Amino acid sequence: MMFRHVMVPYDGSDHAKNALNYAKDLVAGDADAKLSVVHAVPSSYMGVDRMGTDGALDGVPYGMLDYEEYQGVVKRVLDEAQKRVAEDLADLGDRAQVEAVAGASPADALSRYAEEHDCDLIVMGRRGLGAIRGMLGSVSFGVLRATEVPVLTVK
Ligand code: ATP
Ligand code: MG
Repeated sequence: MMFRHVMVPYDGSDHAKNALNYAKDLVAGDADAKLSVVHAVPSSYMGVDRMGTDGALDGVPYGMLDYEEYQGVVKRVLDEAQKRVAEDLADLGDRAQVEAVAGASPADALSRYAEEHDCDLIVMGRRGLGAIRGMLGSVSFGVLRATEVPVLTVK
């Protein structure tokens, strides 16, 4: 077998969906392999950018947002992400999970997740929801640059 823990950074875009399908095929035939679909909540969702602060404590600077509010944002994103991909992941049973992470930037949060959870492959879209033109989005570029984990990009 090749990969034990494949991670798919997921923003709901068609590219991310293609990446998810690709990753599913990779792990489907291997009972020991697992899949994590990870949605990053950028700190800009939390008003951090407006304050001109960047990135302490997973993107939440002191006094900006109380902890419950912050947990609420992450929880909402997680609930939505789980709903969106639940059906897609059904055939993998408990070998698949959906997570939401926060960070100073999506690329930071995603690459940290990959390292902390010993992912041995990241499969992600080349572009995402902000796709207009170009070869590589800023999140995929940022993850590629930040991590030692091999990254496979899918159109
Ligand atoms: P940009 O965001 O720079 O305008 P883009 O939206 O076209 O460009 P990216 O955001 O880099 O491109 O998206 C590329 C891939 O990165 C997506 O297909 C998805 O796999 C992943 N991705 C992007 N944003 C997130 C996010 N918030 N959480 C998880 N994965 C993400
Ligand atoms: Mg994007």
